[in-house]
Amino acid sequence: MSKQDLRGKVAVITGGGRGIGLAIAQAMAKKGVAVGLWGRNKETLDAAAQAIVNSGGQAFPVVCDVADKDAILSAVAETEKALGPISILVNNAGVQGPNGPFWTNDPDEWWHALEVNLKGPMLCTHALLPQMREAREGCVINVGSYIAIDPCPPASAYSTSKAALLRLTDSIAEGVRDVGVTVFAISPGYVWTDMTKEIDQERQLHDPNYEPPAKDWTFLPEDAANLCLRLASGEADKLTGRMIHVRDDLDTMIETADDIIEKDQYALRLTIELDD
Ligand code: NDP
Repeated sequence: MSKQDLRGKVAVITGGGRGIGLAIAQAMAKKGVAVGLWGRNKETLDAAAQAIVNSGGQAFPVVCDVADKDAILSAVAETEKALGPISILVNNAGVQGPNGPFWTNDPDEWWHALEVNLKGPMLCTHALLPQMREAREGCVINVGSYIAIDPCPPASAYSTSKAALLRLTDSIAEGVRDVGVTVFAISPGYVWTDMTKEIDQERQLHDPNYEPPAKDWTFLPEDAANLCLRLASGEADKLTGRMIHVRDDLDTMIETADDIIEKDQYALRLTIELDD
């Protein structure tokens, strides 16, 4: 599969002001991609954009809530006016949602997690996909989580939203494969950010036996950033629709892509044993 130079392309990274999103934005900017940073906090976004510009990159901050359709349409228009047509979208913005048993959660807070983690990527992708299809070029990367594949009773809103994001990923991917647009889900692994520090503190407070994840279970924001660069560069296009974890061996996955597709691996499926 060919590997494209990303120089001169325009990317939007939602939640690009801090955490994993900031690492993705910085890595893309280093490769010559002009990056639109979308999020709610103006100060954080301005500081992140300024740091990228100071190191020779191009960045444009836009204050918006990813769950607000009108705000997303305005953000697309503002970003494209400043940077040009967007061909890479990283749906990274996310919230943890309420913790604890489902019946103790506030239903509005529960639903808010779905609004940010699922409606957000849906709205951003919906706003940009028509032009990507027309240009016959584009890459959407949804930042998912392995928490999507197993039930997670203490974080039901978060795991439900990430499971639905996987289904959104492969549902959209198939429909645009023939026009050269790719849609991936990635899992960044456990990364120490504001989100996980908050979860850690809360768990420590409620569970005296709680132990944070061991070092070999944690990853750096840069691992997700490197994976995004490789996916956006087109080298794994055949794997569109699949979920890729930062610890997966992408080189081997690319080599064995036909087999992965035939066996329908790296996707959310109901596995049942059928009698002949
Ligand atoms: P952080 O809490 O550090 O960052 C979250 C980002 O999302 C911030 O930039 C925040 O910006 C933005 N955001 C939140 N709500 C909204 C909203 N309504 N509209 C626009 N932007 C919003 O989290 P991480 O960096 O850890 O997480 C990034 C992604 O990675 C998330 O999707 C998360 O679920 C996923 N992930 C993280 C893991 C980890 O271990 N850290 C593991 C697996 C997945 P602002 O406050 O300015 O709005």
